[in-house]
Amino acid sequence: MNKELNPFEIAQRQLDTAAEVLKLDPAMHAFLRQPLRELHVTLPVKMDDGTVKVFQGFRVQYNDARGPCKGGIRFHPQETVDTVRALAAWMTWKCAIMDLPLGGAKGGVICNPKEMSRSELERLSRAYIRQVGRILGPHTDVPAPDVYTDAQIMAWMMDEFSVMRGHNVPGMITGKPLCLGGSCGRSDATARGGMYAVRETAKVLGIDLKGKTAAIQGYGNAGMFAHQLGQELLGLKVVAVSDSKGGIYNEQGRDPDAVAAHKGKTGSVVSFPGAKNITNADLLTLDVTVLFPAALENQITAHNAADVKATIQAELANGPTTPEADEILYKNGVFVIPDFLCNGGGVTVSYFEQVQNAYNYYWPIEEVYQKLDEKMTTAFHSMHEIAQAYKVKNRVAAYLVAVSRVAEAVRMRGWV
Ligand code: NAD
Repeated sequence: MNKELNPFEIAQRQLDTAAEVLKLDPAMHAFLRQPLRELHVTLPVKMDDGTVKVFQGFRVQYNDARGPCKGGIRFHPQETVDTVRALAAWMTWKCAIMDLPLGGAKGGVICNPKEMSRSELERLSRAYIRQVGRILGPHTDVPAPDVYTDAQIMAWMMDEFSVMRGHNVPGMITGKPLCLGGSCGRSDATARGGMYAVRETAKVLGIDLKGKTAAIQGYGNAGMFAHQLGQELLGLKVVAVSDSKGGIYNEQGRDPDAVAAHKGKTGSVVSFPGAKNITNADLLTLDVTVLFPAALENQITAHNAADVKATIQAELANGPTTPEADEILYKNGVFVIPDFLCNGGGVTVSYFEQVQNAYNYYWPIEEVYQKLDEKMTTAFHSMHEIAQAYKVKNRVAAYLVAVSRVAEAVRMRGWV
């Protein structure tokens, strides 16, 4: 993987910029550049045809100075340990900017869930927990869903862990189904949090978002709910959406339920009736007010950043923008809501789920929404104030807030 596109190198370069502005102690800087620990596992799994396939998996615990580690598990054919390291680093900064008493981690398995049956996925999920379970637990490290993992997979993982421990341990994982101790509001929390951040952005930019246009890259958990909530909470007209197979465009916008139903039936948003097919590359450079990258890393690079015409780039995906692209967006006046702030709603409601599991007492949905709104709004303004005060990019400002908080915890523990 070349340096420009290696997510972990990108995460380290982002930290380096913040360390320079903060004049971080060199030992602290060196410590925060690396994960604390990581586990690499080999998972033999019986396939439906009777053969055994061997998968590689990872769990990276980046930093737990502020509390138990937290971070999703991704199942993806192009998963690499450097991607997991980067995502674990971003989880650390995300929990810190959201001011959650948690550290950062991430997990991944190299596999193609689209080519596996549900029973094969169940056996893989259970095999992963049998190996990685030894470093997980409500007080040590709590996973959650990410790309191509869902509530059902969380349920299998929680069940496997509970069998290993001999008692029910719902708090070992979040994003569970409601009937197994999930939290109300977890499923759309990432997109909802992003909408609160866009709402606050519009206030500081003095824009009325009602009827303004938006485009969304990625139509999974984050993207699909962004379509629905962008319309419902902000009055946005979503003119384009896409997934891994391509995108669609209609200047009037399209009904989110109908697009989701079409994807459910055909496996993609492509060829939705009444919309024009476009490519993912076209979608990113549409003339819209809000662009939501909600798919994978490295989508906005030095090659296409100059063509981004959006006023606001709200990063629901992790790592969608390379540092080179960031510079170009900043120069062109695109207001970027950086990933680890913009998509922090997911981990925030995951944290609420952990709290509810610990108490074995569950909150109504209005309480979840209200607490999420408070957390997102506070986090957004902590970044915005620093960006104004230091005259730096939003991403650098978000790093300044997050890294100072983690460094303070590391220092107070006496580690560095
Ligand atoms: P998901 O598996 O539910 O959906 C992923 C979507 O992206 C799918 O529609 C897929 O078709 C699409 N996609 C994949 N490759 C693509 C490509 N090259 N171009 C366009 N679309 C592509 O995953 P998700 O949970 O929605 O996660 C999406 C992003 O949001 C990831 O970066 C993830 O780390 C981040 N994120 C998710 C959560 C969460 O709570 N789910 C929280 C924080 C951040």
